[in-house]
Amino acid sequence: MSEATCVFCKIVAGQIPALRVFEDDATLAFIDIGPLADGHLLVIPKEHYQRLEDVPPEVLAAVARNLPRLGRAVTRATSAPGYNLLQNNGKVAGQQVLHVHFHIIPRAPADGLGYRWNVTEYPPGRAQEMQQRIIAALSS
Ligand code: AMP
Ligand code: ZN
Repeated sequence: MSEATCVFCKIVAGQIPALRVFEDDATLAFIDIGPLADGHLLVIPKEHYQRLEDVPPEVLAAVARNLPRLGRAVTRATSAPGYNLLQNNGKVAGQQVLHVHFHIIPRAPADGLGYRWNVTEYPPGRAQEMQQRIIAALSS
């Protein structure tokens, strides 16, 4: 998905409508058109980047600094006692729109959204192996 065809770039450019709640130089926040709950927000950098690791750190910081305030506003507006911050990278992780975005999803008791984490257990030595592989990858 290039900038020319990206639905979120079109929203930033005002070429397609969105219900905006906040913007600054780096950031746009708007209502998700397919909400998991009332008040479900999307928070995006105005510039097009596909995945979290593609975003320059200073741009990411400029966007992420708004998340606590937006999270608080969503909980106040919806009376939700909590929210999930969700950020999908790659189709395998559920990323449908290839313009990096944060979901703010209000949560309420018994809202039925649930979790589908299939927790596993490491066999002996595997966690340590992963620790070493990730440390090595950090410096490669
Ligand atoms: P993801 O699966 O993490 O890529 O999430 C993409 C999100 O974008 C979904 O929750 C969609 O409902 C939402 N979405 C797609 N198109 C639009 C749009 N035009 N306006 C608002 N939200 C959108
Ligand atoms: Zn885009």
